[in-house]
Amino acid sequence: MGEDPDQTALRELARQIGGREVGPRAGESDESGEVPREAIKALATADLFRVTIGTEWGGLGLGDVEAAIVLEEIARFDVSTAICCQLAYNGPSRGIEHLGGQALKERYLPTVASGDCIISIGITEPDAGSAVQNMRAALRADGPGRWRLNGYKNYSTLGHVASAVLVWCRWPGGDGAKGIGAVVVPMDRDGVSVTGRHRGMGIHAATEAEIALDDVAITEEDVLLAGDPGSTESFKTLLAHLNHERCGNAAMCIGAAQGAMELAVTYARDRVVGGRPIAELQGIQWKFADMAVALEGARLLLGRAVRLAGPGGTPPPLETAMAKTAANLAAKLVCDESMQIHGGYGYSREYPLERAYRDIRGLCFGAGTVEAQKNFIGSSVAKGKATSSPGWRDQTKG
Ligand SMILES: Cc1cc2nc3c(=O)[nH]c(=O)nc-3n(C[C@H](O)[C@H](O)[C@H](O)COP(=O)(O)OP(=O)(O)OC[C@H]3O[C@@H](n4cnc5c(N)ncnc54)[C@H](O)[C@@H]3O)c2cc1C
Repeated sequence: MGEDPDQTALRELARQIGGREVGPRAGESDESGEVPREAIKALATADLFRVTIGTEWGGLGLGDVEAAIVLEEIARFDVSTAICCQLAYNGPSRGIEHLGGQALKERYLPTVASGDCIISIGITEPDAGSAVQNMRAALRADGPGRWRLNGYKNYSTLGHVASAVLVWCRWPGGDGAKGIGAVVVPMDRDGVSVTGRHRGMGIHAATEAEIALDDVAITEEDVLLAGDPGSTESFKTLLAHLNHERCGNAAMCIGAAQGAMELAVTYARDRVVGGRPIAELQGIQWKFADMAVALEGARLLLGRAVRLAGPGGTPPPLETAMAKTAANLAAKLVCDESMQIHGGYGYSREYPLERAYRDIRGLCFGAGTVEAQKNFIGSSVAKGKATSSPGWRDQTKG
């Protein structure tokens, strides 16, 4: 799908910064587990944290298409660094801008746009992952317009370095999905503590934190979206907003996989086995064929989902679920085969491939697993929801 000249220029800029500032530092931060601060600084200097934030708040006011472009280019070099952008583009700040009040916008949007503030996402709990409506985090009334928040969030990406965390929680009187809403809590507020960090197989420079919330004072100014104990509407709105994050996740998978495939092509052209470059072997070419088909398919599905969002809109759920599923599965295939094509070197830490392989594996859980996406796609199709096939009438509409 074509890009306009501004989008092409943005891609070029992101690729340049990625190649010059992000890629060369990625191995080191993967080893140390430190947040890639120098890379973040370079992205901020290039105004790349401003992409989706409104111009009123110091952003560029661009949409999901542009977010996907930059995320793809940065993830080509390093998924951990791309995740810092993902939080700024498609994480809590997007929700704050669309759903939040003036105080929240003033407090957070300008500093997210400048790259000085990370807001983590606190949805998952030990007993509420895919079944997020089982969450225990809850508000207790503490006077007019005041509450106390108690809960435990166990997979908040970059929570240990964040300035604030978006917490999904239940309003007093709610049950199940009824009453779930969201608040934004500064990490330095009394009662908020980081109790640990996960040591995952990948994404070492953007790890997930465990966050305890013990009787944290909450006021109306912290509320992103109030839960109504008699309704699931707020919960549905929050879920719909995750489609931004899912598209960003897909873009990062596509970028990391594209980077891996390009490395594999270069390697296969150079590596001579039995007197011929392995790129000339049909067995290797068939791998490239499978990789290219999967990757291009995912890219097309993502392009459709982000374009359908339109200016200021949200990517539609079915198209988003298809794009995330295709991108997660394509990235697994492409990164695995790229490693295989490198032979034993692909498995070595001296080459960037094994890092991409480990990193994209984590992306297959974040923002809803492949199984969760398939449940939604499958049940939608079974109900008669049309895909884009010409002539397939949407049987869910009258
Ligand atoms: C790298 C990484 C970053 C993350 N970042 C964040 C973050 O910033 N904020 C946050 O809140 N959370 C985050 N998460 C958590 C993530 O959203 C959850 O891991 C995910 O939603 C799955 O929940 P779970 O791990 O509890 O698995 P479970 O829900 O326990 O599921 C276990 C397995 O069963 C499958 N399964 C569950 N239900 C069904 C079903 N009905 N049908 C078929 N299969 C099913 C799942 O797909 C999975 O394979 C992150 C996770 C990872 C790995």
